[in-house]
Amino acid sequence: MSTHAPTLGRMMHRPLLITHLLERAATIHGRATVVSQRPDKTRVRRTYADIGARASRLAHALAALGVTAGTRVATLCWNHEAHLEAYVAVPCMGAVVHTLNLRLHPNDLAYIARHANDEVILVDRSLLPLFAQFAAQVPSLRHVIVVGDSGPVDTSGGHRDYETLLAQAPPVPYPWPDLDENAAAMICYTSGTTGNPKGVVYSHRSTVLHSLVSAMADTLGLKDDDVVLPVVPMFHAAAWGLPYTALLTGASLVFPGPHLDAASVRDLMVKEKVTVAAGVPTIWLGLLALLDEEPGKHDLSRVRTTIIGGSAAPAAMIAGFRERHGIIITHAWGMTELNPLGTVAHLKPHLRAADAAAQLEVLASQGAPVPFVEIRHKGEDDGPPLPWDGATMGELETRGPWVADSYVGDEGEDRWTADGWFKTGDVVTIDREGYVRITDRAKDVVKSGGEWISSVALENALMSHPAVLEAAVFAARDEKWGERPVAAVVFKDGRRASDDELRAHLATRFPKFWLPDRFVAMHQIPRTSTGKFLKSKLREEHGGW
Ligand code: AMP
Repeated sequence: MSTHAPTLGRMMHRPLLITHLLERAATIHGRATVVSQRPDKTRVRRTYADIGARASRLAHALAALGVTAGTRVATLCWNHEAHLEAYVAVPCMGAVVHTLNLRLHPNDLAYIARHANDEVILVDRSLLPLFAQFAAQVPSLRHVIVVGDSGPVDTSGGHRDYETLLAQAPPVPYPWPDLDENAAAMICYTSGTTGNPKGVVYSHRSTVLHSLVSAMADTLGLKDDDVVLPVVPMFHAAAWGLPYTALLTGASLVFPGPHLDAASVRDLMVKEKVTVAAGVPTIWLGLLALLDEEPGKHDLSRVRTTIIGGSAAPAAMIAGFRERHGIIITHAWGMTELNPLGTVAHLKPHLRAADAAAQLEVLASQGAPVPFVEIRHKGEDDGPPLPWDGATMGELETRGPWVADSYVGDEGEDRWTADGWFKTGDVVTIDREGYVRITDRAKDVVKSGGEWISSVALENALMSHPAVLEAAVFAARDEKWGERPVAAVVFKDGRRASDDELRAHLATRFPKFWLPDRFVAMHQIPRTSTGKFLKSKLREEHGGW
């Protein structure tokens, strides 16, 4: 007689694949819509059923061009339906979609495309001039497919036309293969301002889990009756995963194409009855200024929330949207290395009865970690985790099922601790309830006389001054103190404030040694390709470095 315990029953092991998101969207949510704005501002409408059929055709066409498991298929595209088709068709056939950031310098694009070993590229017709500046530097590229976003495609030079390829492909469902859920689905490169960009690989599993958690009511809460406008580019950390979360939930999508200025975004939101929009703070600062100029003129009553991340959303902007226009901001923190969502500023039930100032304090924080994302912060690499007291500053570390374990080619290994946590490079406090507040990027913190000054806190306070549209605080070299804070300030149209007024505005909330030594008025603050303040440039040009 066997002495073994009886075998327990088991659940099926079904891999978590993007294929499920695609097939579910195409069948269960087949009527949901995908609207894409073209460069000439006309809009093209498709359904998820169409996207499913077109993704099948794209996969057939790519397979005919020799794309197999693991082949890198790059995109150099704005946000639109063909980009979405690549987001699903490429990974579901077992290949890897690589989104190229069209705001980078052509030399960087060449480096990244070579590094990723891209073999096929989908390029918007409107971006061919950019592509021409680096194409010759990428010998691995075998096929160029042009998406005719701005008119007919010229195929005389060996380029292929996306729509012709789709039209010629067999009109039958593509036999999506069974894949390992850990197979690579997408590669995104970090937008590092120092050193070479690093490749981060998202797997099917990480993308599916990320979508599930993003969809949760207290995370981003997407639903089938939402109309989602990702203003955040699809080349920036998978547009924060929103296209996949929309497919999962059946939410409709609206893509802005190249029109990302505040007035165009506002018009698209009104026309397409958008309920959720997402992007970096600059866009929403611009939109708030526009709405303030013409209160009540544009009907944004459908908007449930705008998701803001990528850089700190200033508290004054969050309050302005809420108090003057009834729009709730969802402030989120993430990184390319996190697929990208890490924390969301969501009010817990006991805070919903708190006064407006206490609520704003939480809504303007980077938020608490979403399920499965673990966090801690450290003063020194090999020191103990710091207390969650809302005051002690340290570098944020994280781990979880959608946190990168390495970069492509095992570069940058020093970003991981010996016990397997990812070092974010963000300096934060964490409070008792797990709300994270970023006080700086480690490299941007101002160190004056050995004390740390939070540039983000100063920026936030400056942006609450009625004359200030935007402010970036950076370190200037100083003989006596090592570094001193200096503020670059963009004033609102027709407004101005003197240095003394700005200093007085800050003096009510910060110690004297925190107050910027100088203010530099600018028309525009220099930015990185993903919309973050480019403080290295400010330091070089105005900080004496
Ligand atoms: P990226 O990988 O380009 O998305 O950049 C990630 C970095 O952007 C983070 O490490 C932060 O420094 C910054 N970041 C992202 N979201 C926020 C936010 N809500 N507030 C402040 N900084 C942010």
